[in-house]
Amino acid sequence: MADRVFQPDWSIDARQIPRFSFVDVMAGRIGASDIAGKRILVGATAVELGDRYTVPRFGMVPGVVVQALAADSLLQGRAILRSGILPTVAGLFVVSLMLGASHFRSVTRTYAAFAAALLVIILLTPIIIQAHWPISVDSVPLLFTALFCIAGRIILETRKRASERKMLDPETGLPNRRALECALAPKEGQTPAIAAAAIERFEVIRDAIGTAALAEVMQICSTRIEDSGSGKTYLIAADVLAWILPEGADAGTTVNAVTEQFRVSLDTVHGPVDVSLTLGLDGEREVGPSLRIERVLAAIGSARSGNVGWQWYGGADPDLKRQLSMMGDLRRGMAGGEVNIAYQPKLNLRTGIIDSAEVLVRWHHPVDGTIPPDRFIALAESTGTIHELTEFVLRAALADCAHWGKMGLDICVAINVSAMDICEEGFAEKVQRTLSEFAVKPSSLGLEVTESAIISSRSAAIGALIELRALGVRLSIDDYGTGQSTLTYLKKLPVHELKIDQSFVSSLCRNNADQIMVLSTIDLAHDLKMQVVAEGIEDQSTLDLLTRLGCDYGQGYHVSKPIGFDQMTDRLLGQRGKVSKGG
Ligand code: C2E
Ligand code: MG
Ligand code: MG
Repeated sequence: MADRVFQPDWSIDARQIPRFSFVDVMAGRIGASDIAGKRILVGATAVELGDRYTVPRFGMVPGVVVQALAADSLLQGRAILRSGILPTVAGLFVVSLMLGASHFRSVTRTYAAFAAALLVIILLTPIIIQAHWPISVDSVPLLFTALFCIAGRIILETRKRASERKMLDPETGLPNRRALECALAPKEGQTPAIAAAAIERFEVIRDAIGTAALAEVMQICSTRIEDSGSGKTYLIAADVLAWILPEGADAGTTVNAVTEQFRVSLDTVHGPVDVSLTLGLDGEREVGPSLRIERVLAAIGSARSGNVGWQWYGGADPDLKRQLSMMGDLRRGMAGGEVNIAYQPKLNLRTGIIDSAEVLVRWHHPVDGTIPPDRFIALAESTGTIHELTEFVLRAALADCAHWGKMGLDICVAINVSAMDICEEGFAEKVQRTLSEFAVKPSSLGLEVTESAIISSRSAAIGALIELRALGVRLSIDDYGTGQSTLTYLKKLPVHELKIDQSFVSSLCRNNADQIMVLSTIDLAHDLKMQVVAEGIEDQSTLDLLTRLGCDYGQGYHVSKPIGFDQMTDRLLGQRGKVSKGG
């Protein structure tokens, strides 16, 4: 044993080994009986010699003490052998395999219990072995390896869970758009069709049951779509679920199967909810996942605007794309002289002269050509750009009116205003300020508001109209007959003029019902002290009939198409000549 590497047994108490000072021995102070029959080790203990070692239990001890402990271990048969490199390597292999390799697919409670048990085994094994055999097992590398593997697994698991969370919608727990993109990516080039279903009246459902309950609705919708035999669903927008169609699936059959699932109301904790869907499909293989999702959403948009239940993607809607930049273009157009105004004269049927004109906006786009107002007014209203446009038209019309005034031409210019304009805070003051700026009298300005605009904004619009009337501005109800205004409502409106919509005028001579409608409107307006303008007069017979029916003003292509400032000036000057000759 003495020729092998071994460890002293550190449990032998070094303090129990008797020590004699060399000086005492030399001086004879140690009796022979003290050392008789004992093995003696001679060694130096002076600190200066540097012969000192750190050992377990006793800390720093002189080299001779280590030797004494080693000798005692040998004598008592308690010298400890090291287990050697092979068991340690084998242990490392087993530990890494058990804790690091993918035996456990994720860090679960079972994994935690298993790891804890293994750590206890690693700690207890050397103690148990040493209790029976003088063998020291080197457990420190095993312990570190085990802790390293556990920490590694936890870090990897945390990262995996974080990336899984990115694939889920937090509210509903359904896989989201990113998850669909990932699902589509490996199938690029051989992608089957994808479909998406949008919930109709989504905002109404949300307002009725609340955002939290909406998650349940989306979960039930997802289950129902999956139950129809479609693939796994993904929530690609708040109200849209998409899925990859099974290979070879027929679009019509899929749509019918999905729609069938929604014939019965959804059973939610808030009670039954009726859901109807609009579906979009895309079968293009050549584009990437993200673009495919955009296309399927666009297909839903087309199905909605075409009022059909479902539609394949049929290319981007150029109008939709155009709308994205149209308002910026309109602003640029107003500043750059592309937008201007035209005048459509209103003929006074009693006097036969033109004493007023409607102002119509015109946009001559350098690339798209002339863009009709119908294409940008509604968009301007929905984006708020209408206020800038109305101000632009108002200023241009008043500038022209002031110009005509200086020429001695008295004319009332009527601009079209939307409900948003008249309900805007301070609109009446803005009109008043602009009138003073151009030194135009209020009675030379008219404002035309459509019947439907007044009805949609109700009391707010009436309040604004009262304010504007007090200013002295002329007020007209445009497109009368197309909305649903009632007689009681009409009575309340503080307006000067009703403009009968051209749909009643165009076939007036041929259609008896239209004649009755126009005649009763004229009588009603006169009873309410309003004047009547007939729009859309395209021939002389209609003009004559309207004059006979007692209509006050006529407007339409037969009187004049919308014309520019110069032509309008010529017309007014020509008419002045006629009036003065006649007079
Ligand atoms: P509206 O106010 O009812 O204007 C009359 C529309 O009918 C004008 O079309 C005019 O050109 C057209 N029209 C006039 N006479 C005839 C006719 O005899 N036959 C036919 N078939 N059409 C006739 P426009 O200029 O395209 O304007 C369309 C609508 O756009 C206007 O309807 C008005 O609601 C709106 N709008 C036009 N300019 C402005 C504006 O400056 N501001 C606002 N907010 N809306 C405007
Ligand atoms: Mg009008
Ligand atoms: Mg009109």
